[in-house]
Amino acid sequence: MLRCVVIGSGIVGAALADRLAGEKAEVVLLEQGRPGQATSRWSLAWLNAAAKTPHAYHRLNADGMRAWARLATGLNGATWYRPVGNLRVADAGRREQLEATVARARAWGYAAHLVDREEAARIEPTVRLPDTASRNLCLAWFPQEGYLLTEPLVEQLVARARQRGASVRTGEAGRVTGIERVAGRVTAVRTADGERIPADTVVCCAGRWTSEVAAMAGIRVPMVDPTPPGSTAPGFVARVGPVEPSPTRVLHTPGVNLRPHGPRTVHLEAGDMTADLHTPETHLRDLAHTLLDRARQLLPGLSQARVQEYRVCVRPMPADGMPVVGTVEAVPGLYIVVTHSGVTLAARLAELVTRELLEDIRLPQLEPYRIERFTATSPQ
Ligand SMILES: Cc1cc2nc3c(=O)[nH]c(=O)nc-3n(C[C@H](O)[C@H](O)[C@H](O)COP(=O)(O)OP(=O)(O)OC[C@H]3O[C@@H](n4cnc5c(N)ncnc54)[C@H](O)[C@@H]3O)c2cc1C
Repeated sequence: MLRCVVIGSGIVGAALADRLAGEKAEVVLLEQGRPGQATSRWSLAWLNAAAKTPHAYHRLNADGMRAWARLATGLNGATWYRPVGNLRVADAGRREQLEATVARARAWGYAAHLVDREEAARIEPTVRLPDTASRNLCLAWFPQEGYLLTEPLVEQLVARARQRGASVRTGEAGRVTGIERVAGRVTAVRTADGERIPADTVVCCAGRWTSEVAAMAGIRVPMVDPTPPGSTAPGFVARVGPVEPSPTRVLHTPGVNLRPHGPRTVHLEAGDMTADLHTPETHLRDLAHTLLDRARQLLPGLSQARVQEYRVCVRPMPADGMPVVGTVEAVPGLYIVVTHSGVTLAARLAELVTRELLEDIRLPQLEPYRIERFTATSPQ
């Protein structure tokens, strides 16, 4: 039986541990904090593929959406799976881009429709749409998209992985501090409580911390550094409520992107609202209130709402924007999975990675994402 150590229990590591354990691998899942409480907790968690290119990457994301539908049937999907569709509003400056996205998506067999204001109001009756004619706005509807509630999902993935025989260690017992190699090959990991955990394969699912963990095995994973001021890796999000009535869909508009988060809360973010790891607390609070003001323009149901939580969180972003998935040729026994579309992709990657590991094969769908594409990648 293959002994797999999975490092990191965000959505990517939890989905993989569940799948591997279901296929009878011997799994140890190691998490330095609590499962699902890092980037995955704060994500917009929008399931999407429409705007993703090239075609192979679009297909991987569309497969990702279907993989969640499959998983939902056996894992209490009512508590976390929301295939509610996505309504997008583009202003005059982005009209052509949205029209092109819809045309390309349709050509690729993906459900996408340009809609008028009346149709959009039928799709999401809680929204007060701006005057589309006078502002030359463009509206599009992607009915197969949606979102996930990642906290109950990760909790249930980890619980099922345990039922399937996985061992789950958290806190200091789960914090990986070293990766052991013998003659170049990974043989074990060490944790902060002094344990040595032997492994045939160590799978790094450490999200934004991937570079640090891979460096323990002497490997450089090129990722966007979140620390310099103005880095594109950090994102700002806020949660507000109560909302009555609550919207149902994912909404992308020029001023704010949002989705429901539980029965009376709405998750907000905006592409033009940048914050980084140095943004002062007072400015973050102002940003959260600006987001709420923008959302109120759109959703009258937020008239009594207050800011409940806000946060700068960090996207795990490989340097060229594409996932890194696969065995590291220079370090046998080390496998890396990191992507900045981790919510959309995690269930499909869990399926594909499990096959690669258990059948000792290389799947063509994953070939574009090998770490060896970075010419600068070499053992340290
Ligand atoms: C603002 C924002 C919006 C986003 N919107 C979307 C979206 O709409 N759709 C989408 O698909 N994606 C979106 N993403 C990206 C998506 O959220 C991430 O790709 C995904 O959550 C990454 O999951 P993960 O499991 O790789 O990482 P994480 O959830 O960060 O989990 C990694 C885990 O590894 C653990 N770890 C790290 N180092 C160690 C160690 N040494 N030992 C043990 N454990 C360790 C951490 O504690 C953590 O729990 C968004 C991200 C952000 C920030």
